[in-house]
Amino acid sequence: HWRQPEVKRTKTVCTYCGVGCSFEMWTRDRQILKVQPVEHAPANGISTCIKGKFAWDFVNDPKRLTTPLIRENGQFREASWDEALDLVARRFMQIRDTEGPEKIGFIGSSKASNEEAYLTQKIARLIIGTNSVDNSSRYCQNPATKGLFRTVGYGGDAGTIEDMEKAELIVIVGSNLSENHPVIASKLKAARKLRGQKLIVADVRGHEMAERADIFLRPNASTDMIWASAMARYILDNDLADTEFLETKVNQVEEFRESLAPFTMEFAEQKTGIPKQQLIDAAEMIARADSVCLLWAMGITQHSHGADISTSLSNLLLVTGNYGKPGTGGYPMRGHNNVQGASDFGCLKNMYPGYEKVSNDEVRAKWAKAWGVPPEKLSGEVGSDNFLMVQDAGTEKLQAMYIIGEETAFSDANANSVHDSFSNLEFMVVQDIFLSRTAQFADVVLPACPSVEKEGTFTNTERRIQRFYQVMPPLGNSRPDWEILTDLAKRMGHDWGYTHPSEIMAECAGISEMFKGVSYERLEGWKSQCWPVREDGTDTPLLYTDGFHTDDGKAVLFPLEWKEPAEGPDAEYDLMLDNGRMLEHFQGLNQTGRGERLMSRSPNWFVEVSPELAKEKNIEDGTWVKVTSRRGSVEVQALVTERVRGKTLFMPIHQGKPGLNLLTGEHHDPDVNTPAYKETAVKLEVL
Ligand code: SF4
Repeated sequence: HWRQPEVKRTKTVCTYCGVGCSFEMWTRDRQILKVQPVEHAPANGISTCIKGKFAWDFVNDPKRLTTPLIRENGQFREASWDEALDLVARRFMQIRDTEGPEKIGFIGSSKASNEEAYLTQKIARLIIGTNSVDNSSRYCQNPATKGLFRTVGYGGDAGTIEDMEKAELIVIVGSNLSENHPVIASKLKAARKLRGQKLIVADVRGHEMAERADIFLRPNASTDMIWASAMARYILDNDLADTEFLETKVNQVEEFRESLAPFTMEFAEQKTGIPKQQLIDAAEMIARADSVCLLWAMGITQHSHGADISTSLSNLLLVTGNYGKPGTGGYPMRGHNNVQGASDFGCLKNMYPGYEKVSNDEVRAKWAKAWGVPPEKLSGEVGSDNFLMVQDAGTEKLQAMYIIGEETAFSDANANSVHDSFSNLEFMVVQDIFLSRTAQFADVVLPACPSVEKEGTFTNTERRIQRFYQVMPPLGNSRPDWEILTDLAKRMGHDWGYTHPSEIMAECAGISEMFKGVSYERLEGWKSQCWPVREDGTDTPLLYTDGFHTDDGKAVLFPLEWKEPAEGPDAEYDLMLDNGRMLEHFQGLNQTGRGERLMSRSPNWFVEVSPELAKEKNIEDGTWVKVTSRRGSVEVQALVTERVRGKTLFMPIHQGKPGLNLLTGEHHDPDVNTPAYKETAVKLEVL
């Protein structure tokens, strides 16, 4: 009496980038039959890219973790959940009580749900007593957030994808949009074709959007702050600024104007290598457009002064009055699907959920009351961040780590040093869906579920909170992260009793001002809410329509000084290595590397070499070369392309063992501790 199982259609949200595409997943048991976008999906409508469509083979991969693992005599052995979680609870409480709470650090996942981010920071703050909790935004978007905090007050995108489509002019800086946020790129290509939307691109590397641009600015590496500041000065000097906006809505205009004295067009041309006339043309186009959206990504943030560069971009938008009206604003493009939500829901060293400061006594008292403890139970000390935790791991400063779904051993700069740190930790727990490179250093590995095996919410780059639903049950004995964390908390004496993620969201909404009106009922099906959400459920797709998120409601023009990058070329390391994502892949291939459909399109690692350099060194496509930095070296095949010029190379971040991060270094932006991945000087030899 065997019957063919029925086909089930379930709404889910893509986990491969911050666009937040939602679609119906068609399944029969565990078999994924197809992914079907629908017209009413709020971020994407009927579009997806190839990752959203085809990158789901990992869900049923035989290498999925299905049972907890405990390291014994240098080898992993299988364990029950009781044994593994009891061990984690016992060791964490022991280290907390004997060594101190600050000896334990948490890295939350920017791929897990908002509810799971909330629980991660709740365990760190309430049970362990530390604010040392962070997420991978430290490595990508923190500098952008800092730039926005300094100037307009919220760290999130100023508006929505619809605003980007409405803008008269789009400026894309340091972002390969068509490969990293393909659905937004498609929408902008359509806006250009149908409405004649204008486009300026600034990037050291050529890519599809650069080819389509009205103006393509190609600055020397790490000099974007100079051209942005020179344009701001040109606009102010030539009466092209939005004076009414500046007079009524912006503070520090005169201080800012004075700070621009060094940023002449001549200085900008000399440092950036962009011809002066091209800079003037771009400045005039920005100043004369009725509405400008400025998008940027890791080509800007991963520098030793990424926060300053981000600030200079937001300054440029303020000078031209491009905040608070439809089709305007600053848009840092979020990389991971929930990097926005992981920060929003408190996986940050200095903020509770909703960006409430841990150092503020009233804030701490509020959270303590809600969590049922006296205020002195919660630490007011700013904690450690990803960068510092990894540096301190295994020293007397940090003895234990709990890492959820982050491939730190692959993605962090200077991989060899990261591996040494992890090897020296007294106790390390990793919660993941595969035995990742990071998990291989762990003492206990806890098998978690991917999004399609659980429920929850994600927040995309628009600050849009969306529900995803369970498509299929957990594989083997794996469990959703929120369930694992709830169970662990209970074993450490805190029985929170959550039976569904909606209860976790309801708790957070009851405490945090930013999420007051968020509820699973209001997010039912294809509904969504962009934070901040008022108690009555009214959300805020476009920020700053009633003033800025500052004490007096005015924005701030933030004066900056030019600082040289921490690492540049010299006589020995004479080339600069750029790096980034590719359309087909995600991070270290843990997910996208497990299916033929994507791997067959882009199977190999490579380094892009300019035609000029290829000629000088006698390199052809496929030539094996050795790329060496001050930290290490890798051997890789060359791809000769005009996408890079002169002495700049480019490498994808995905492949290699461990790959790119053998070359990158620990120099970082001191304002935010983001490693300067894009400031890597190397030399190249033909093998
Ligand atoms: Fe997924 Fe981003 Fe592609 Fe949309 S654009 S399908 S969110 S990877």
